Amino acid sequence: MQRIVVIGAGHASGQLLDSLRRAGSEAHITLVGEESWLPYQRPPLSKKFLSGELTAERLAFRPESFYEKHQIHTRLSCRAVSIDRDIQTVSLAGGETLAYDLLALTTGTRVRELAIPGAELAGVHYLRGIDDALGLQADWQGRDNVCVIGGGFIGLEVAASARTLGKNVTVVEMMDRLMARAVSPGMSEYFLGLHTRNGAHVMCSTGVSELLGTDGRVSGVRLSDGREIPTDVVVVGIGVVPNQELAQEAGLACDNGILVDEFARTSDPKIVSAGDCTNHPNSLLGRRLRLESVHNALEQAKSAAASLMGEKLAYAQVPWFWSDQYNSKLQMVGLSEGFDRAVQRGNPDEDKFSLFYYRGDVLIAIDSVNRPGDHMPGKKLLAAGISPTPEQAADPEFPLKSLL
Ligand SMILES: Cc1cc2nc3c(=O)[nH]c(=O)nc-3n(C[C@H](O)[C@H](O)[C@H](O)COP(=O)(O)OP(=O)(O)OC[C@H]3O[C@@H](n4cnc5c(N)ncnc54)[C@H](O)[C@@H]3O)c2cc1C
Repeated sequence: MQRIVVIGAGHASGQLLDSLRRAGSEAHITLVGEESWLPYQRPPLSKKFLSGELTAERLAFRPESFYEKHQIHTRLSCRAVSIDRDIQTVSLAGGETLAYDLLALTTGTRVRELAIPGAELAGVHYLRGIDDALGLQADWQGRDNVCVIGGGFIGLEVAASARTLGKNVTVVEMMDRLMARAVSPGMSEYFLGLHTRNGAHVMCSTGVSELLGTDGRVSGVRLSDGREIPTDVVVVGIGVVPNQELAQEAGLACDNGILVDEFARTSDPKIVSAGDCTNHPNSLLGRRLRLESVHNALEQAKSAAASLMGEKLAYAQVPWFWSDQYNSKLQMVGLSEGFDRAVQRGNPDEDKFSLFYYRGDVLIAIDSVNRPGDHMPGKKLLAAGISPTPEQAADPEFPLKSLL
């Protein structure tokens, strides 16, 4: 019987396993995951989970019975430490080896760590997995002051959850605006206003030079201009790095992620890879990129499963992403980087608007706040390469669907 080993139990692996069995794969499948949880949804961790509206049990990608029913052998709390491609084995941290005929790498990313004095103090948190979220929840209970370092999606979602729980929140961001890597200046400005209105103190263009401690626990943050902010808890959200070392040490081609083709195949024909850890081509965008999104993990995993089945399903989709902060749902489709014109539709003062981004006459992305009616047809317009005129985009009554 063919043996498939999947390393990394996250979003991409959950989809990959589902797709394999749906396609009729009868392979002996082993899932190796270093966390103690079966594949689960990470997005709620910084949102409804942290604010106490969802429990860990509700996050599972598939119930435990799915793995039993489909005879998927799970090896949790178990880290894969090396791959020997010549004899096709994976070594696990305990010394055991697993033989494979085909291998899937869905190792995701890990948090970038703060490299300043005091970073090791108790009360300093990162957020990647359920265990991190449980640790943060337990730690900030009964503590009022939270300092979030990093004004990206995760930092801002944590800030919104903390404000919802009534905590005093300070966000410190090094760049001159929020979420600068992902959204336009217009959208950054809206979110700065949103957080400020909700009572968070946001400091942009501000670096952090040291975390200050008392008796081994964080008690303050020293900013690069010398000012000090007293705090009880620090949450660091300064980005992630791809888990590519396993692949790299096995001699697979890597460059800011594991290099794969549009069929999720690595440089070894017996190994596929999908999700946050890959650097992949996107024919719609005409370039390679690494994405950190659920949509990417799920869709690329379908291509990886097809490749494992000896079929070909090209992954070529317009990227999309979402973020929930307070009552504002941001939905993004396409990549706005490099736009030369942003057209506003709707009214930011009513927390309902979209920005349509153009390069020349071509629509390249849409960011919407509480306007799913723009996001949904927008996805289809971008996939089909159809651009509404800027006048049509600016008119909230113009039916975008009519262009499809
Ligand atoms: C707090 C938070 C909020 C988010 N919010 C959103 C959102 O709103 N929208 C959105 O689109 N995306 C969001 N994301 C991103 C999204 O969760 C990721 O893009 C997605 O999880 C990627 O899936 P993946 O399978 O590639 O990697 P992951 O889900 O990270 O899974 C990888 C798994 O592999 C394991 N692993 C790594 N190396 C090894 C090894 N050597 N041996 C064994 N196991 C290993 C890791 O521990 C991990 O469990 C969020 C992420 C976080 C952390």
